[in-house]
Amino acid sequence: MDLSELGFLTVKAVQAFKKQNIITVLDLLYHYPTKFEDYTIIPFSEAEIGKNITIAGIVQGKPNVANIKSNLSVMNFYVDVDGARVRVTIFNRHFLRTKIHYGKYVRLTGKFDQSFNKFIASELTFDELGTAINPVFNIKGLEDKKVLEIKEKCFFDYQDLLIEDLPEDIRKEHDLISIREAIQYINIPEEMDQIQQAIKRIKFEELLKYQLKVKYMLYRRKTAPEGLAIHYNQKQVDSFVSQLPFQLTADQQTSLQEILYDISSPYKMNRLLQGEVGSGKTVVSAIALFAITTAGYQGAIMVPTEVLANQHFQTFTELFQSTPLKIALLTSSVPTKDRKEILEALSGGTIDIIIGTHSLFQKEVVFKKLGLVVTDEEHRFGVKQRVSMVGKGYLIDHLKMSATPIPRTLAISLLGDSDISIIKTMPGHKKPVITKYIDYEKRVEVFEHMREEILRGRQIFIITPMIEESQVMDLKNALEVFENVKKYYEGFCEVGLIHGKLKTEEKEEVMRLFSTNKIQILVATSVIEVGVNVINATTMVILDADRFGIAQLHQMRGRVQRSDFQAYCYLISKSQADTSIKRLKLVEETRDGFALAEEDLLIRGQGDIFGEKQSGTILFKMANIVLDRDLLEQVNGLAEEIIHSQRLFNDQAYKNLYDLVYNNYQVKKEILE
Ligand code: ADP
Ligand code: MG
Repeated sequence: MDLSELGFLTVKAVQAFKKQNIITVLDLLYHYPTKFEDYTIIPFSEAEIGKNITIAGIVQGKPNVANIKSNLSVMNFYVDVDGARVRVTIFNRHFLRTKIHYGKYVRLTGKFDQSFNKFIASELTFDELGTAINPVFNIKGLEDKKVLEIKEKCFFDYQDLLIEDLPEDIRKEHDLISIREAIQYINIPEEMDQIQQAIKRIKFEELLKYQLKVKYMLYRRKTAPEGLAIHYNQKQVDSFVSQLPFQLTADQQTSLQEILYDISSPYKMNRLLQGEVGSGKTVVSAIALFAITTAGYQGAIMVPTEVLANQHFQTFTELFQSTPLKIALLTSSVPTKDRKEILEALSGGTIDIIIGTHSLFQKEVVFKKLGLVVTDEEHRFGVKQRVSMVGKGYLIDHLKMSATPIPRTLAISLLGDSDISIIKTMPGHKKPVITKYIDYEKRVEVFEHMREEILRGRQIFIITPMIEESQVMDLKNALEVFENVKKYYEGFCEVGLIHGKLKTEEKEEVMRLFSTNKIQILVATSVIEVGVNVINATTMVILDADRFGIAQLHQMRGRVQRSDFQAYCYLISKSQADTSIKRLKLVEETRDGFALAEEDLLIRGQGDIFGEKQSGTILFKMANIVLDRDLLEQVNGLAEEIIHSQRLFNDQAYKNLYDLVYNNYQVKKEILE
C-alpha cells in the first residue's frame, strides 16, 4: 500500500516522505524516530538542578509581566509544586497572562536554576496529561506532531500488514514483545518503558536475522559442497615441516590442521587466520601452499603493498629453498617483458606459487590449476579487488590472514561466513615490548635512549603520522623530522627516510640499507606499518602517537618484537587532551591485542568497521554491533543453535526466518558467480 493511495495524506506530505525513501505504509511504520523527548512529569522530590525536566503545580497568584524590549517579555509567577513554593520565569509568553491565576494547574518544562526555588521554563501548558513522550522523526517539511498523527492512523488501519518473523518460543524465552507492539511502541509511545521494550525487540530481530544469514551461508558451504577436495601428500607435508629451522607452536599446529582439513574437504575454504604481527602466520600459509602443490595445484598469495610482496617473496624463496618449487613475484613494477614470461609460466603451470599485489587478479592473469589463494591483511584491499579475486574461482579455497585482532563474535559478523583460526602465542621466547607514553616536552629522554640502543648495535624506527587530509603535509612533516633527526645525530649515525611517494626501487634501496645496518635510524611515514621485517630494529618511536588508533599502535609496535633483544616503543604526543592521554596509557599498559581492539571499536564505532566493507548499505537501522555487543553475543548463540538443531529448516514456526535467509543466500551466490 503506497502512501499516495491513502486518502488522507496531502501531496506535500507524500513528497516529504518520499524524499526519505518512505514510499509505502510499511516503509513508514518501519521508519523509526531518531530520539524521544520526554515530557513525563517529575515529582519535586526527584527533580535535579540544571537538568531539563517537566514539573506540574498549582499557580499561587497573578503573574508579573515586564516588557524588556519590543520583542522580549518576561513573566514571573509562583507555583506550588508538591508543597514547595517555586518561582517560575518564562520569556515571551505574556499573551498567556490572563490564563494564569490562583488555583490554575500548569505543566512546565525547563530547568531549576541554581536552587529549587527558581524554575526557568521554556514550555507552559495547562492540560493535565500525566505523561507525554514526543518522538522526534526528522522528516524535513513535516512537523513531528503531524508525522505522529499520520503514523498513528497508519498503524491502527494497517497493522495487519506487519508480519511476525520471530517465532513465539524465541520471544517467550528472550522476553520480547510482538512486532505489532514493537512498531506501536516505537512510533506512538506512551511510556519510556515501552520504548525500551520496542528497542530491545527490534535490535534483537535485526541482529538475529543477520547472524542467521551469515551462519546459513557457512552451513550451506559445508553441507552442500561445491569446492575442490585437494588430496595433498601428507608425507611430503610432514617432511617439509620437519626441515623448517624451528618447531611450530601449538597454535600454529592447530591452525595448520584446520586449514589442511578445509583444503582436503570438498567445500570451499573460507578461513581467517588471525594472529599478531610476528606470530607466525606466514609460515603456516607457506605450509598450506606447499601442501596443495603436492597435489599438482598452484597457489597465490596476495598482499596489499609492493614492499610486503617483496618481503614475502624473499621469505618464501628461503622457505622453499630445499624444494623444487618455482616461486614468482608479480607486481605492477615488474617490467613488461618479465611480466609476459611470468604470465606464460603461470598459465603453462611451471610456476607453483605466485606472490603479488592486486595486479595478480587482472584479467590476463590465468592459472593452469589454481587451488589456494592466500590474502594477507585482506581488509586493506578495496571491495572491487576483493570481489574480482573471489570471482577468479568461486570454488577455490581462500585463506585470509590478518594481524588485526577482532573479537570473535564481531569477526563472524564482519567477515560473513568465515571460519576462524587464531594464533595467540608468539613463537620463541620474545620479551614483551616495553612501551612508554612520553609527553612531547620530555622527548629528549627518548633521544638519549636511542643513542644507547645504537651504541649497543641496535636500530630504530621513527614513525611520523599519516595526515589524512593532506599527503603533501604528510610528506612535509616526514621530511622535517628526517632533517632534524639527521642534524641531531650528525657524526654519530646514519639516518634514512622512507615514505609512500618514493618509487619502488627507491624504497627497496632504503630498506636494503636499513636491513644491512648501513642506516641506523629509519624515519618512515606509516607505510611501514604493513610489512618490513628487520630483526635488529628494536626501538620504535611514534611521533604524534595520538593520531593513530590504539589497535594500530599495538600492531606497529609488534614490528620491533622480532628478536630476543629487549624491544622498546615510545609513544610521543603533544596532545594534552584527557582522552588522548588515556588511550596512550592504555597501550602502554595493555599487551592484549584483543582488548585494545575492542577499546578501539568502542571509540570509533561501527561506521568505521563497516565503512567500505558494506559498500554503502546500511546493515542495521537500530542495532549497533559495537555498542550492542552483549546482545550480539546472545543472539549469536541462538542463531548457532537454530541452525544446528535444524529448526530453521524443519520447524514451520521458523518459516519466515528461513525464507529470509534462503533468499539472501541466493542473492549473495549470484553476486559471487
Ligand atoms: P606473521 O606472518 O604472523 O607476521 P611470520 O610468519 O612472518 O609472522 O613469523 C615471524 C618470524 O617468526 C619469522 O622470522 C619466522 O621465521 C619466525 N617464526 C615463525 N614461526 C616460528 C616458530 N614456531 N618458532 C620460531 N620462530 C618462528
Ligand atoms: Mg605477516
